[in-house]
Amino acid sequence: MGCRRRAATARLLRVSRGADGLVVGPGAGRGAWLCAGSARCFDLAVRAGRFPRALRAEVAATELDALRISLFG
Ligand SMILES: [Zn+2]
Repeated sequence: MGCRRRAATARLLRVSRGADGLVVGPGAGRGAWLCAGSARCFDLAVRAGRFPRALRAEVAATELDALRISLFG
């Protein structure tokens, strides 16, 4: 979703919308896929506004910040 590179599913990270915000890992509903371990891929996806589109939902900047910190520090 971020860099548009194709990768095997095993090397991708799934982000979906949970009851308390964004969750990483298997989950219900729509998922947004990112290259695992790639902060660059994450940032590209954020800048291009791909999270709301992939999840078909509003995604607050604070949620994305929190997710970035939990994934990459
Ligand atoms: Zn990527």
